[in-house]
Amino acid sequence: MAGTHAAGWLAVPPDHPLGLQTLPYGTFTTVDRPTEPRAGVAIGDCVLDLSAAMCRLLTGRAHLFSSGRLDAFLDAGDRAWDQIRSAVTKWLSSDDYREAIEDLLVPAADARMHMPFAVADYTDFYASEHHARNVGRIFRPGGEPLPRNWRHQPIGYHGRSATVVLSGTPVRRPYGPSLPPGTEAPVFAPSARLDFEAELGFVVGVETVVGEPVTVGRFTEHVFGACLVNDWSARDIQAWESMPLGPFLGKSFATTISPWVVPLAALEHARIRPPSHGTDVFSYLAEPDGWGLDIGFQVTLNGHVISRPPYATMHWSPAQMLAHLTVNGASVRTGDLYASGTVSGPQPGERGCLLELTWGGTQPLALPDGSTRTWLEDRDELVITATAAGPEGTRVGLGEARGMILPAQDPTAI
Ligand code: MN
Repeated sequence: MAGTHAAGWLAVPPDHPLGLQTLPYGTFTTVDRPTEPRAGVAIGDCVLDLSAAMCRLLTGRAHLFSSGRLDAFLDAGDRAWDQIRSAVTKWLSSDDYREAIEDLLVPAADARMHMPFAVADYTDFYASEHHARNVGRIFRPGGEPLPRNWRHQPIGYHGRSATVVLSGTPVRRPYGPSLPPGTEAPVFAPSARLDFEAELGFVVGVETVVGEPVTVGRFTEHVFGACLVNDWSARDIQAWESMPLGPFLGKSFATTISPWVVPLAALEHARIRPPSHGTDVFSYLAEPDGWGLDIGFQVTLNGHVISRPPYATMHWSPAQMLAHLTVNGASVRTGDLYASGTVSGPQPGERGCLLELTWGGTQPLALPDGSTRTWLEDRDELVITATAAGPEGTRVGLGEARGMILPAQDPTAI
């Protein structure tokens, strides 16, 4: 129906990224009730108190939000996800429900956001061919940029869930061992090559049991939605420690996520065939239609746009990532987060980390204020935002993942 998505008694402008086409879920408190987390749905410039609305209008499912966190809802499965999204859409669009919920709308500016779910396991992939090729060229000049295994399977590593933090949480520059250029012995020092990685994260709802892989076709039974991820990276610590194993302390000090989890249902219109479609892959990675996603990212450093990475260029889809993650029999749990890897497009202005934007620190980035950057400096603030293609020309907002760098503090000093 034409105009459906702009309709509703709230009259959210049709170009608003948080209209009825989006309806993401999060956890919030207000100043008057600071110790009572409540589940919320973002709508326009407001947050609907979903925990309270459920108690009034859908009591049979209200227990899913009684904690204020999303964990029970994530675990409830796709029938509950669909039922509740339909109900919320109806409440916010039909005049019949205006009286019942109007007093449950909180101005977004008055809502303090919290971690929406307990992050169980955290995995990070490496699904952008442009990112993988650029990294290969930077670290192995003259060699084949793409690792031999890269086209055969989504490459990833298991990270640290305990240090996944909410957008807005300051990130302290880590100390660690590294081998500075031109030195003979490693030093223990603050990272001098602190970087960000703009990524998309996928949130697992329904767990699996050990020994049962998730086929690409069952992706939507297990994954609830998506959020933005900044995989902060200390390149000098990472380079020294990654011989021969993968990322460790260079990554595990902090990972930032956006506060709103956007359901896959809101990303249906953004679906495209990923570049892996039709390529020669193992049968467990073959995807008939695909979960490539037309999502435009924007990265700002201290308010200046430094990159616009296009998610549509990501080679591997999230359905393929989950199929690979579980094909050896490994299980996933409610609250698992797996991220796409740095999103980088083919153009220089589409690179999703400073490693690529400054070509390993050799080409400083000029900012409009006259300053330059090779790596992040103390007090730099990095913000990742994104919008996906929505129905009828709308945009589906994914919110933001924001973080400011704090000066290093020697963790071994007494
Ligand atoms: Mn990463």
